[in-house]
Amino acid sequence: MIHKVERYIYSGRSRFQEIDVVETRDYGICLVLDGKVQSSTADEFIYHEALVHPAMVTHPSPECILVIGGGEGATVREALKHRVVKRVFMVDVDEEVVRVSEEFMPQLSAGAFKDRRLNLIFGDGRAYLEKSGEKYDVVMIDVTDPIRGGPSYMLYTKQFYEIVRGHLRDDGIMVTQATSTFYSRKSYALIFNTLRKVFPIVRAYSAWVPSYNSLWGFVLASLKHDPLSLSEEEIRNRLTWRNVVDIKFYSPEYHEALFKLPTYLKKALEEEKEVATDENPTFMPA
Ligand code: SAM
Repeated sequence: MIHKVERYIYSGRSRFQEIDVVETRDYGICLVLDGKVQSSTADEFIYHEALVHPAMVTHPSPECILVIGGGEGATVREALKHRVVKRVFMVDVDEEVVRVSEEFMPQLSAGAFKDRRLNLIFGDGRAYLEKSGEKYDVVMIDVTDPIRGGPSYMLYTKQFYEIVRGHLRDDGIMVTQATSTFYSRKSYALIFNTLRKVFPIVRAYSAWVPSYNSLWGFVLASLKHDPLSLSEEEIRNRLTWRNVVDIKFYSPEYHEALFKLPTYLKKALEEEKEVATDENPTFMPA
């Protein structure tokens, strides 16, 4: 994606990735990892609300949450808006992303890192889950796209999703960002089809994110609750009862629309036969 950069605010390399914070002409301040825009102050609310609220609302009582990745803190920020949440665990592999985001883009976490309900852990999300004895109501996977040599591609495989399923409570839900529906349609379809091998209810959805210049893909996978069986009224009640205010993208009316996909995408997902495995993971085109 090409953006006009007005100013470099921070540039560095952590153990895991290149980290830049830049001011752009059109999207405000952007966090860029390995050359890819992760969040921009102009439109990050779209991506983060789309990732978090459909799963949170679909669960009748999401008290214990796990966020894997999400270094900027905005995914946790959105999850904490649901008053019912008692504990959030966030596991990011890269402490530097959290430090840099907090310092140069504090509006993204908006105080979430100081919330008493948050337990912030640094380490690989998969390794953490393999050792954790905890079970969660909602698991949100907000890691970087699966690129060769990157830290996240083993978090898009069937074996990983089986580990996640094993750490969900009986009516648990997981959601993952699922890359671009256009530039990496194959990865999106593969993530969807792979989750279908592991979970009984799997729903693909999307949201247009201007700074990614793409209709962005997400996949929600659930053991019991179906996001498409919720009425607008029920969604409104849940948001009201949980005191979720200050949302700008997600709404009871828009919930169902998020799950509507254009014909070519529906076809690509329905026709996908391959499964991403540890032996044969999916990689997004560089
Ligand atoms: N919005 C983003 C996108 O579209 O790709 C994702 C944002 S968030 C900054 C991605 C985070 O995932 C980064 O902070 C990165 O350090 C983290 N991450 C990557 N691989 C990980 C892993 N294996 N375990 C935990 N966190 C990981």
